[in-house]
Amino acid sequence: MKVGFIGLGNMGKPLADRLLINNELFVYDLDQKKLEYFTNKGAISCSTPSELASTTSIIFLCLPTSAIVDKVINGENGLIKSATKGSYIIDMTTGEPETTRKIAKILKEKEINFIDAPVSGGPKGAHQGNIAIMVGGTESQFAKIKPIMDDISSNIFYAGKIGSGHSIKAGNNLLNLICRMATFEVISLLVKDGVDSNRAVEIIQKSSGRNYATEITLPDNILSGKMFQGFSTGLMKKDASVATKIANANKIDIPLGKLSQELLNRTIDEFGEDADMSNVALTYEKLTGTKIRP
Ligand code: NAD
Repeated sequence: MKVGFIGLGNMGKPLADRLLINNELFVYDLDQKKLEYFTNKGAISCSTPSELASTTSIIFLCLPTSAIVDKVINGENGLIKSATKGSYIIDMTTGEPETTRKIAKILKEKEINFIDAPVSGGPKGAHQGNIAIMVGGTESQFAKIKPIMDDISSNIFYAGKIGSGHSIKAGNNLLNLICRMATFEVISLLVKDGVDSNRAVEIIQKSSGRNYATEITLPDNILSGKMFQGFSTGLMKKDASVATKIANANKIDIPLGKLSQELLNRTIDEFGEDADMSNVALTYEKLTGTKIRP
């Protein structure tokens, strides 16, 4: 099948790599080096989103923000210029549900399907073919698109109406941030009390306090000394702010969410928005005067 992919960064690259196995892949990105990686593997490079939409009727997007998604679809030489009736644009960006619903409405008038399908599990999960994909749209759109997504992952979920995938993804990432901060706080406390951090994480991972930070973040990225997870502080800040927008729109107070974002901002103040999320551990070490890393 002819399939298009736009946005070949840390996350888009391994997702597109999986589609390349069974499909004829058409790619577009602003970064020529990212395009070359795929053309060297047999994919066809397009010079604009519009050109890509004239060749394929199934188009995946994995871009930094919903504002960029809007530009790639509705901007100059955007997908909307040449996308055919009945085609599918599948947005794997971690985006904003409100913008997603607006874009879907515009595209529906042209009989173009727009669905949200953000992912969770990072580049590692994409490589392994088990990344979680949460799909927002109608059930019939989901049924139509699922067989193509099966090429990417064995963990595909129907999330609900358009925008639901993006809502759940924002909630998931805020929860990840809260759990990460809580875990670093507790591990720092235990180290201060004379406990070995490796041992504490190993035991908590088998106890009632276990979470993604005790299972993956600390053992794989921090305690191993790797200090790289492939996810930037700036993207986490964006994801948490999407969850905050949802809370504000629904007039719900999220005190833990606010506090975790304030703590994240300390890392951003020190290391910038391009820094890897692993740097949060360094902020905690400074804050508590302990060394989490062995
Ligand atoms: P990234 O910055 O590594 O990649 C973004 C890519 O989009 C780059 O190749 C860039 O050149 C391209 N791009 C930007 N603007 C463009 C435009 N106008 N036209 C065409 N290409 C354009 O980011 P990433 O880590 O791959 O994240 C992409 C999305 O996936 C984000 O929404 C992020 O929140 C989400 N996500 C990332 C991870 C992760 O672990 N990295 C995990 C889950 C979800």
